[in-house]
Amino acid sequence: MFRQARIKLTVFYLLIIMSISVLFSVVVYRNLTNEIARGMRLQALKALPKESLFLEQPKRFVPRDLTFGLPIPDESTDFPANFHRQVFDEARERVALQLLLINLGILVFSGTAGYFLAGKTLLPIAQMVDEQKRFIADASHELRTPLTVIKTETEVALRDKHLNLKLAKRLLISNLEEIDKLKSLTDYFLTLSKYQNASNNFDFQVFNLAEVAKEAGDQLCGLAKAKKIKIINKLNDISIEVNKVSIKELVTILIDNAIKYSHMGSSIEVNVTTERKSAIIKVSDSGIGIKASDIPYIFNRFYRADWSRSKSKAGGYGLGLAIAKSIAELHHGKIMVKSTASKGSIFTVNLPLKQV
Ligand code: ADP
Repeated sequence: MFRQARIKLTVFYLLIIMSISVLFSVVVYRNLTNEIARGMRLQALKALPKESLFLEQPKRFVPRDLTFGLPIPDESTDFPANFHRQVFDEARERVALQLLLINLGILVFSGTAGYFLAGKTLLPIAQMVDEQKRFIADASHELRTPLTVIKTETEVALRDKHLNLKLAKRLLISNLEEIDKLKSLTDYFLTLSKYQNASNNFDFQVFNLAEVAKEAGDQLCGLAKAKKIKIINKLNDISIEVNKVSIKELVTILIDNAIKYSHMGSSIEVNVTTERKSAIIKVSDSGIGIKASDIPYIFNRFYRADWSRSKSKAGGYGLGLAIAKSIAELHHGKIMVKSTASKGSIFTVNLPLKQV
């Protein structure tokens, strides 16, 4: 598809360039041949004896005749007898040949350049389409798993002749868990598409970043308590223009991950500071960390490090950090990670204090 579109675009480029070039060549050809004709006619007239100029052919010296002879003047009416028509025709042919060669050159050059430029123009679109296709494939895969579980369990239960109320209830509870997974997955999709849709208008207002971070941490208190994890807040009051809901969501994702991938009884530190013209949010943990080979991919959609997944046994879809990155970008900021496997991770969000 990309190749076809590239060829089509090249043909469009060529059509435009060649129409201009051919039109330009026609004008050049006509003007040049007229100029040659005029020059040669003048020369021929000069070569005639003076008397014949004024006595025999007075009409031929009217300046109008000598300026624009379109179409190519007819020798029998306008030209003196000693005009070299053959020389003129040869000159005309040479001009035509040269213009033809120039046009061929332009055709080859603009064809090559057009193909190259069409490739450059279409590349981001092709990448976007590929990304969309990958997303659909990954999303379908993730949706399929709980659906398959629900279907299989229900089918098995229906075939079971001894199905009693207790078993049926167990089946319903299990199905409900899978439905919850489906719901949280679709919630993730909606959130992701909300932040990646450039036409969405977000309400930006001045908030105290410390308060927003505190609210996010408080929300996850229960989760932290369950793992006996202590959340240490080191929050400086920083006023910044942000979309509060999304920034809270970003901090929640980072703290939630820190809890998920930390050991029982450990602690997590949340910092809010400023650095030059940016506000900095830092979430540090001393959990399972991330392997160096996984770090470049963790912000990609659906990426989950197998190693950390098996060690932590934490549920997830690999969408949290992709959402966090989109939120940082929405605020013209950046999100970075420093991590050492088995030692812990530090996620840093850098938000410009002045939103443009
Ligand atoms: P998930 O739902 O799997 O947590 P995320 O997009 O939030 O999805 O994270 C992607 C992957 O990055 C996780 O599967 C995990 O491997 C790794 N990761 C994220 N945060 C941490 C952390 N604080 N410590 C260790 N690994 C992490």
